Amino acid sequence: MVTNLQARDAATVLHPYSNLSTLPAQGSLILERGEGVFVYDVDGKPYLEGMAGLWCNALGHGREELVQAAAEQMRKLPFAHLFTGKSHDPAIALAEKLKELAPTQAAKVFFCNSGSEANDTQVKLVWYVNNALGRPQKKKIISRIKAYHGVTVASASLTGLPNNHIDFDLPIAGIRHAACPHHYRFALDGESEEQFATRLADDLDAMIQAEGPETVAAFIAEPVMGAGGVIVPPKTYFEKIQQVLEKHDVMLIADEVICGFGRLGEWFGSTALGMKPDTISIAKQLSSSYAPIAGVIIPDWIDDALTSQSAKIGVFGHGFTYSGHPVAAAVALKTLEIYERENILGHVRSIVPHFQKRLTAFADHPLVGEARGVGLVGALEAVADKATKRSFDPKRAVAAKIVAFAEEEGLIVRAIGDAVSICPPLVITEAEIDLLFDRLGRALDRAEGWASSENVR
Ligand code: PMP
Repeated sequence: MVTNLQARDAATVLHPYSNLSTLPAQGSLILERGEGVFVYDVDGKPYLEGMAGLWCNALGHGREELVQAAAEQMRKLPFAHLFTGKSHDPAIALAEKLKELAPTQAAKVFFCNSGSEANDTQVKLVWYVNNALGRPQKKKIISRIKAYHGVTVASASLTGLPNNHIDFDLPIAGIRHAACPHHYRFALDGESEEQFATRLADDLDAMIQAEGPETVAAFIAEPVMGAGGVIVPPKTYFEKIQQVLEKHDVMLIADEVICGFGRLGEWFGSTALGMKPDTISIAKQLSSSYAPIAGVIIPDWIDDALTSQSAKIGVFGHGFTYSGHPVAAAVALKTLEIYERENILGHVRSIVPHFQKRLTAFADHPLVGEARGVGLVGALEAVADKATKRSFDPKRAVAAKIVAFAEEEGLIVRAIGDAVSICPPLVITEAEIDLLFDRLGRALDRAEGWASSENVR
C-alpha cells in the first residue's frame, strides 16, 4: 500500500537513479531523521545505514559540531564567492589543510560542489592545460569500463556504465574506456592477479600506441571502483599501469570521491593502493556529506600552466557560483578536524579486519559468487551457479531482491547489477558491524529461499 506521502513523492519528485516506471507502485522509502549509523523512516522504523548514504556519511548522523560550524558561518558570512579576486577564510583554510593532507605534490585546490563537477573540471583542465602547453593534439582521456565518475556531460562520458550513456548520446568524443580490472569476472582461466594486471597494462599500452601517444593526455581511475560494483584492482595493477602512463607521458587522475578521507584506512585511497596521481578529485567524505562540497587538487606544473595562460589571455574562465561556498567549506574544515581529533583513520584500521572477516565469510553462501572488499567497503556478487560463475538473468534482479529483504530486516545496502554493495559510516563499531552482517545474512537466506522456490536459477 502506497501512503499519501509516497504518492505525493511519486507525483512530484523526478528521482535520480530510480526505475521511474516501477517507483510509483512501490513507493519510496521516506526517511525522516538519523542518529549515529542509523536512519529512521517516517513510521519511526530504524535502519542501519550500510551505505553511509551514498558512500559519503563518514561520521554518521547527529554531529552537533558540524551543525554548529554551519550555523556559525551562516551567521557570520553565509555567502561570498571566489571570482574576480575575492576570497574568504573558510576556503583559504580548507585549501591549506587539503594541501597538507594531499598524498602528492599539491599547489592549489579548485573547489566545486559535487564529484561530477570535480571530474568535469578535470576534463576541462586536461584540455586547457594541453592547449596552454602548446600540444593541442594531446587531449584524449582514457577511463575504464565500469568506472564511475559522475553524470554531467563530460564526467558521464568518463563513467564506463551503459545506463549513463544509452540514449543520453554519450560518451562525447575523445574519451576511451580501457578494460575493467575485475579479476573474478575478467581473468583468464588460471591467470593469477599479477598476470591479469600485466595483461591489463599491456592492453593499455597497446591502446595508447593505437591511438597515438601524442593524442592521449590522461588516464582517470578510482583507487577502488565504487558505483561500478566495488571492484578492487588485482595486485600490482597500479604499479604496472603507471609504468605505461609514464612511458607515454600520460597524466594520472585519481578519482578519490569515494576512497578519499579514510575509506581504506588512509587519508587517500591512492596511498593505500600505490597510486601516484598528478591530480585528485575529492568530494563526499570531505564534509562527511553534511554539506555539498568537492574539489580538484592540482600540482605545480598545472598551476604554472594555468597562470602562464592567464598571462596571455586574461581570465581563467572556469568556476561555479558556489565554488568554495563558505558554509560548506566551514563544515568540511570541521569534518577534517574531527577525523584527526577522533583518530577516525586509526578506528577504521582497527575495525577493517572484523568487517572484512564478516564480509568474506559470505563467500560460502549458496547465492554468493564473490565476496570482495578492501578497507571499509565491500560487495557480494550474486551468481546462479557458483562453480561456473553463471550470472542470474538480469530481469530477475536478484541483487535488488536481496536489498529489498535487507530493508525489511532493517538494513540499507545497495544493488549494483548483480552485486550488493556495503559501505558503512567510518564510525561504525564492531557490534554494529555484527548487526549489519547478521541482517544481511538473513536477507541472503530469504533471497536464497525465494530463488529456489521461484526457480530463478
Ligand atoms: N566519482 C566517484 C568515484 C563517485 O563515486 C561519484 C558518486 N558516486 C562521483 C564521482 C560523482 O559524484 P556526484 O554524485 O557528487 O556528482
